[in-house]
Amino acid sequence: MSKQLTYQQLTEIADEFGTPVYVYHAERIGEQFKKLQKAFAGCNTRFFYACKALTNLNVLKYIQSIGASLDCVSINEVKLGLMAGFDKKDILYTPNCVDFSEIVEVKELGVNINIDNISILEQFGNTYGNSYPVCIRLNPHIMAGGNFKISTGHIDSKFGISIHQMRHIERIVKSTNLNVTGIHMHTGSEIKDIRVFLEGLEVMFNTASHFPNLQFVDLGSGFKVPYQPGDAETDITDLGKKVALAFIEFEKETGKKLQVWFEPGKYMVSQSGYLVVKTNVIKQTPAAVFAGVNSGFNHLIRPMMYDAYHHIENITNPKGAERIYNVVGNICETDTFAWDRKLHEVREGDYLVFNNAGAYGFEMSSNFNSRLKPAEVMVMDGKARLIRKRDVFEDLLRNQVI
Ligand SMILES: *Cc1c(COP(=O)(O)O)cnc(C)c1O
Repeated sequence: MSKQLTYQQLTEIADEFGTPVYVYHAERIGEQFKKLQKAFAGCNTRFFYACKALTNLNVLKYIQSIGASLDCVSINEVKLGLMAGFDKKDILYTPNCVDFSEIVEVKELGVNINIDNISILEQFGNTYGNSYPVCIRLNPHIMAGGNFKISTGHIDSKFGISIHQMRHIERIVKSTNLNVTGIHMHTGSEIKDIRVFLEGLEVMFNTASHFPNLQFVDLGSGFKVPYQPGDAETDITDLGKKVALAFIEFEKETGKKLQVWFEPGKYMVSQSGYLVVKTNVIKQTPAAVFAGVNSGFNHLIRPMMYDAYHHIENITNPKGAERIYNVVGNICETDTFAWDRKLHEVREGDYLVFNNAGAYGFEMSSNFNSRLKPAEVMVMDGKARLIRKRDVFEDLLRNQVI
């Protein structure tokens, strides 16, 4: 049984720290990491937590303490990772469309670098030759992912270097003497069908012979977690077995022992997180009953951005009669968290909780409508601790020049 925070714990946190508030349950993150380690125990595996899902330093420190490595998409994420105590060898930098100067700066920090563009590969080779190892992000041209906005491996995607450009990659590697130690793919998020990973792995193995110094194959991530009750999740146990077999087979054929890397973001932190909000008003219109809460897509954009389903519970009236609500935020634009959602009767003042709010929740929040960003709280060893103060009015003015 997974570790869950109780309604009482969440209510006490909301009372103490105010709402809206993001709550993260550290041990739940640890539990997900253990599941990954167990599923992929048959291979020589490393896990790089894709921290764009949630970068609070306290969360990063916890994730470092349980033995995971870190995947970063910007130089600032790299700096946060170093601050959280990750060793530079345990950080992988996977940017896209950044200026070469950012790559140079990150190289000075000494972390692993993943290159996703021919132009950058060429500049890197011309500047550093074989003095600094690189990983190459390939685009295997596989359509995958729960939503077009999070599909990254298809033919129209900006990500990676096409596998059809292998000749060009080889030319650059050869003429600049680049030391390519890894190849990478990441085809999207919310991938339920494990065949996507296995097909991708086959593509990776087929290109491996082009890189004699290869040490690892990075399969990215996209592991899906259940959002609705009864929802399926990526069968990582089955995937783990099949990936292990594929690596054994590869080793037999080529005599090469490669590591496999993964970059789970959502899988690590989604289910550890809750967004607790307060119901401001109940509004009856000719068409529906709206529960209007003291939050909005400025705090949790996934429903509006990806049509994502977040399970909602009324934690202060859990035995009330069930009724149908549209749960909406207070932003001046259509700002719907859920249509036609059955909830235990919602009264003004009731706390509602959005589950699965750990990944891409706070991280994608903004000050739209000049509203303040929520506080963040982490629960560890049964104790709740504030890990980010709620914005105050002055934060809206901080960088304004008057
Ligand atoms: C976003 C991202 C991930 C994490 O994806 P999830 O679906 O959250 O697991 C991994 N690798 C790269 C390169 C990413 O951009």
